Amino acid sequence: AFNFCAGPATLPEPVLKQAQEEMLDWRGTGMSVMEMSHRSDEFVAIAEEAERDLRELAEIPEDYAVLFMQGGASSQFSTIPLNLLGDKTSADYVNTGIWSKKAIAEARRYGDVNVVASSEDSGFTTVPDPSGWRTRPDAAYLHYTPNETIGGLEFDFVPDSGDVPLVADMSSTILSRPLDVTRYGLIYAGAQKNIGPSGLVVVILRKDLLGKARKETPTMMNYQVIADNGSMYNTPATYSWYLAGLVFKWLKAQGGLEAMAERNERKARKLYRFIDDNDFYANPIEPRFRSRMNVPFTLADEALNRAFLEGAEARGLLNLKGHRSVGGMRASLYNAMPEAGVDALIDYMAEFAKEHG
Ligand code: PLP
Repeated sequence: AFNFCAGPATLPEPVLKQAQEEMLDWRGTGMSVMEMSHRSDEFVAIAEEAERDLRELAEIPEDYAVLFMQGGASSQFSTIPLNLLGDKTSADYVNTGIWSKKAIAEARRYGDVNVVASSEDSGFTTVPDPSGWRTRPDAAYLHYTPNETIGGLEFDFVPDSGDVPLVADMSSTILSRPLDVTRYGLIYAGAQKNIGPSGLVVVILRKDLLGKARKETPTMMNYQVIADNGSMYNTPATYSWYLAGLVFKWLKAQGGLEAMAERNERKARKLYRFIDDNDFYANPIEPRFRSRMNVPFTLADEALNRAFLEGAEARGLLNLKGHRSVGGMRASLYNAMPEAGVDALIDYMAEFAKEHG
């Protein structure tokens, strides 16, 4: 079966197989990693190795901290303003879709949020031209969502935020291609797309941004505390962290982020080309900003949605139903989706269109 879910999404099959084999007895310890003390030498080594591999993959410089936190990406919607507003009162946000809006709504609890630009009028089918963004030089940070998972809208550039730290919700795009970490003040990503199991959230932040948390910040949300304790202030999500480490190893074995980028580009290009060449299917996003990770599409006749999904499921093409807020279909093509999955989807779509078009 191929799982096109937007999240939690498929993990690479070799990772799941390895996890299965080790479940009862990790390297002769007689325990699952899940059962190990997070303070044990074994687990500390696992945790450090995962961080090292991530640093190597994403070329994360030493002046950036890597935190393995909990509460998913959504908890960061509050953690970020609590930590980064510091003595400033306002932060800039770009609104390009549902996840941007959630981040904005949460930040508004803590300070003055300035929406510098929004593509809501277009139905979030484009990215607002940065030349028109109303940014403020005294903003604590500029937040944006490089890939809107629900709308299928992806930035093809990194915004220039000048001296203002750039903050990115990379939940659904991290590790899908190379990135220049030095352009960012903070990157965060819920794990359940390209990293590992849900609940875990990886935060990469420039160390000079530590230590600015407001005094009412819950300890568990204070980046400085988490960094000082090696992400083990409390019991971390040990097993998720372990699986994330296996995924990083898998990515390295695939050739790293350049190789993933090529593969992801090929997968997405194929699917969009098919959609564009076929009147029965449509994708509304301005081509330049189409997401390589999440491909929403509609059928010419909505009444056929159910039949489409049933036929897909019968072939092992799973979870193609679009998000409830936008309807239609969505195929998520994260790193773990093999090209064969995209080929099988296209074959099915062609057949379905022929039969019903
Ligand atoms: N941000 C983006 C871009 C997402 O796609 C998601 C989840 O799909 C989230 C945030 C929320 O993540 P979580 O469910 O881990 O809180």
